[in-house]
Amino acid sequence: MASVTLIPNREKSLRHRHPWVFSGAVGSVSGDPDAGAIVDVLDAHGKFLARGYYNAQSRIRVRVLAWEDRPIDEAFWHARVLESLTRRGALSADADTDAYRLVHAEADLLPGLVADRYGEVVVVQFLTAGVERVREVILDALAEGTGARCVFERSDTSSRSREGLAASVGCVRGDANAVAEAVRVRENGLRFVVNVGSGQKTGFYLDQRCNRATVAARARNARVLDVFCNTGGFGVGALSGGAASVVFADSSGPALQTLGLNLEANGLDPAACEQLQGDAFESLRLLRSKGRRFDLVVLDPPKFASSRHQLDKALRAYKDINRVAMELLEPGGTLATFSCSQAADIASFTLAVAWAGIDARRDVQILQRLGQAEDHPVLASFPESEYLKGLVCRVM
Ligand code: SAH
Repeated sequence: MASVTLIPNREKSLRHRHPWVFSGAVGSVSGDPDAGAIVDVLDAHGKFLARGYYNAQSRIRVRVLAWEDRPIDEAFWHARVLESLTRRGALSADADTDAYRLVHAEADLLPGLVADRYGEVVVVQFLTAGVERVREVILDALAEGTGARCVFERSDTSSRSREGLAASVGCVRGDANAVAEAVRVRENGLRFVVNVGSGQKTGFYLDQRCNRATVAARARNARVLDVFCNTGGFGVGALSGGAASVVFADSSGPALQTLGLNLEANGLDPAACEQLQGDAFESLRLLRSKGRRFDLVVLDPPKFASSRHQLDKALRAYKDINRVAMELLEPGGTLATFSCSQAADIASFTLAVAWAGIDARRDVQILQRLGQAEDHPVLASFPESEYLKGLVCRVM
């Protein structure tokens, strides 16, 4: 077996079950492992620490698969995938929801692998060379373990190129007719159309499922503004929960087109809706200049900080949009505001929202703290797996 020996005193994070070995911690590599090969990770004295897969092209040289000396063979991968599916037992029995995450990469002990269920279709992403190498056994396990009509691959992320892999998209198991038309799913008892072939992420922002229900429960009779709405998850929930009207805002034309189908699929009145396509910062300012007012605003922006260096700039952007959102709210209105930047933790995000209140000259009560749905688990020893956070605020 090839092995990676760490520089002295660089084994602490592994002893704490953090599953990444960065290039800077590597002292030497023996056995010339190729991209995705299984290696042992040894401390500077040659003592076994962990076993995982290697990639010399990635800054993350090793991603750990096991903390003990055990074979990493086809049976291992097959069992790991089935274990992850089994952990979704409660969701799979939920008649109101048939769209959820099956495998959440590192946090499900399957680094580099994402799999989502959309009704009878499973969408899979192989993000690293380590899982690309065993893709056939993983696909078999997913197909067999879910009974899906089709397994569709969406390995078209930027992280793939950092691993030295080309993009790969298409039906890889089962019946391609299952994705010939948009896939229809249920979430919290509502119907959504999902474009698995070209929609953002694997087609839908599944991590917000529980938060959509939380927001819908506060929407009765409200005039709602759903900013960064994508295909309308929050606003559709709000309308079904009795909202008086919803203004949807997003920059993506295809997402807003699908939003139209989602209103129709739930029998919602298009006359109660407005759509604003364009930059959300401009849309918010436009609404403010027209003197528009809302009772409930949802802000669910894309990741503003993809690394620590961008944190200050990102926090200023969070403060900026939250301030304008607060200015659009009636006194006592509700702001549901989110950040999916892993680099911005809940404390700094809360501070950005507090500053927005100061600048808007409004008092802000934090009523609820929200996170990612439980099918996107956070692995305690891997803080990188916690990315989505939200605050439900009363803006006085
Ligand atoms: N709330 C959505 C998910 C939002 S994801 C849901 O529940 O499904 C972030 C969204 O922001 C994406 O739909 C993306 O198209 C949009 N977006 C990104 N940059 C934007 C910008 N500058 N202005 C408006 N929308 C933007």
